[in-house]
Amino acid sequence: MSTDSKQLTIAPPDPDRPPLASNAFHAARTANTTLTTPFPYVTEECLVPGIALFQGDLGDAGMGHFHHTNSVDETFLCLASKGSAVRTGTLMVGPRSHHVGSFFENERDPENVMLMIVVQRQSAKGVRQHEGLTFHCHKCQNVMLDHEFDVENYNEIRGPVPGYFAPLETLLKSFEFGKEYNDSVDVRTCSKCGHVHDKFPMHVWGWTNYHTNYEASEHCRDLLIEATSA
Ligand SMILES: [Zn+2]
Repeated sequence: MSTDSKQLTIAPPDPDRPPLASNAFHAARTANTTLTTPFPYVTEECLVPGIALFQGDLGDAGMGHFHHTNSVDETFLCLASKGSAVRTGTLMVGPRSHHVGSFFENERDPENVMLMIVVQRQSAKGVRQHEGLTFHCHKCQNVMLDHEFDVENYNEIRGPVPGYFAPLETLLKSFEFGKEYNDSVDVRTCSKCGHVHDKFPMHVWGWTNYHTNYEASEHCRDLLIEATSA
């Protein structure tokens, strides 16, 4: 490794993205979804932490599970857990195609709790970032629903809006994925073995909250811009 001082220089922060600090335990107090992003920087080359908090008796439907594929690595740190097979302090980089969910040994145990952080670095500008979400049949592993998407440039979609930072697209796409599954019993019926699946417990994951709040808060931004630009 070179000790050349020029090679060791770290560039100053991007003036459009000033440094921010957050404590995961504090951020989790107001987390309304899994993968809550404590910082608004989620676009290209950003190092994006997502906080997930699960707790309590998860009900008859449990937390459910699905398959996630991501073209960038995800680092997973379990800050604390009780009742989960994922132990406190577990740090790992999983495969880019991985199972998500079913963390607790007894999903009806009211003492269940788990706080974790998933960190991923977004692709560089011009490098395709691709994700996939899949539900499989619980009986025969047939693919029930498969959503694949490229991470889009929301700054271009939204246009030049003062102070705007893009949402975490994974969450908006997860909402669409879960909604399509829950809205149709045909989608939840396995085409191979005929097994009819219960609805996915969206409330455990919070994707609907994120989608609703994103839409409403951007609507409010537009109303403010309209009211102040006459
Ligand atoms: Zn099946």
